Amino acid sequence: SNPYVGSENYGVGKAVGRIPVGVGRRRLRIVVTGGAGFVGSHLVDRLIARGDDVIVIDNFFTGRKANVMHHFGDSRFELIRHDVVEPILLEVDQIYHLACPASPVHYKYNPIKTIISFFFVFILFSFKTNVMGTLNMLGLAKRIGARFLITSTSEVYGDPLEHPQKETYWGHVNPIGLAKCLGVRSCYDEGKRTAETLTMDYHRGAGVEVRIARIFNTYGPRMCLDDGRVVSNFVSQAIRKQPLTVYGDGKQTRSFQYVSDLVDGLMALMEGEHVGPFNLGNPGEFTMIELAEVVKETIDSSATIEFRPNTADDPHKRKPDISKAKELLNWEPKVSLREGLPLMVTDFRNRILNEDEGKGN
Ligand code: NAD
Ligand code: UDP
Ligand code: UDP
Repeated sequence: SNPYVGSENYGVGKAVGRIPVGVGRRRLRIVVTGGAGFVGSHLVDRLIARGDDVIVIDNFFTGRKANVMHHFGDSRFELIRHDVVEPILLEVDQIYHLACPASPVHYKYNPIKTIISFFFVFILFSFKTNVMGTLNMLGLAKRIGARFLITSTSEVYGDPLEHPQKETYWGHVNPIGLAKCLGVRSCYDEGKRTAETLTMDYHRGAGVEVRIARIFNTYGPRMCLDDGRVVSNFVSQAIRKQPLTVYGDGKQTRSFQYVSDLVDGLMALMEGEHVGPFNLGNPGEFTMIELAEVVKETIDSSATIEFRPNTADDPHKRKPDISKAKELLNWEPKVSLREGLPLMVTDFRNRILNEDEGKGN
């Protein structure tokens, strides 16, 4: 049977994870905060397919009901519209804490005042979610004795002076950001760094069982179409027959992981015995120009590239060292960029088409 359910089969390869329900274990009750988002919804698919009960907590800030709609009517699935900044009472076995607003990168170039104040509200909201939301979920985990997993980020390494980045690296983050771009990154980076600190404090001080994942750039179906991330931008642009926008000289690097690999890693981490932090990412490293070339090969070989100015605080390179996860979690990514990209194209095409129809185009 196929362990990947949902409206479409987005998985690649064989699923890993805990023994299915019925083979000598009881059903677990699992909370996924941010479960209506990109990564969260794929995780929910896998947990439900495994036979567990899932409660999604989401305020739909960047997530969408459509991402989990195929579970409506399933008695093992529950969706709560709730902001994790506010306390909540639940009884569960595990908490996957993913809730966090994605960075609205595309606003950082818009000089209009109203957009800037909107952006200010957004980054404060992101910080509040990372700090107060994480505190509430840790308080919940402490009260009910649940295991707690936080999805931190490679951004805790900032613009790294060590390459590739190991978990032992403390990072290179500018806490006050750059005045001219409103500290675009620091609010997110420092929010996640604080969330990791809180997690370790609850672990050491209150005995909460915790797990920390540091996620590197991930892509796949259900990504936000217009959140400004590079893979979603390039794929949307190629489909819409617009030029692919490469920022700066395009020689900066990132390492791109397909979402099913990440979900495997998160589940292996939750079920394993190690706190972490663990880097979860694909070590295949690409410059933005190389990425644009792969997108062209995959979607439209006639697509053109347009260069745009980059922000000053953009990390120059990023690539995970995943030896720790390989050794202790027995996990490594299986899907290459060339295999993974085509898997998001149908989903993007459909959504772009619907969007255009919605506008009456
Ligand atoms: P996403 O924006 O698709 O999902 C985040 C979800 O959290 C959304 O559904 C959103 O509505 C919800 N949310 C935000 N604030 C909330 C709040 N206060 N209360 C309740 N729900 C709230 O983003 P994603 O890419 O799926 O990211 C999931 C997690 O993985 C995040 O913690 C993110 O920081 C982390 N991460 C992702 C990547 C990546 O490349 N996708 C990289 C590093 C880390
Ligand atoms: N909390 C929650 N649900 C719970 C238990 C706690 O939302 O089931 C919140 C609680 O409101 C608090 C936070 O988690 O804001 C931290 O809780 P903790 O008990 O650690 O701290 P305290 O409430 O003593 O400040
Ligand atoms: N980027 C780009 N074109 C775009 C969007 C982003 O060249 O349309 C670049 C961006 O400057 C950065 C890299 O792609 O160097 C990754 O950006 P993203 O926001 O996806 O992820 P992050 O910077 O958080 O790793």
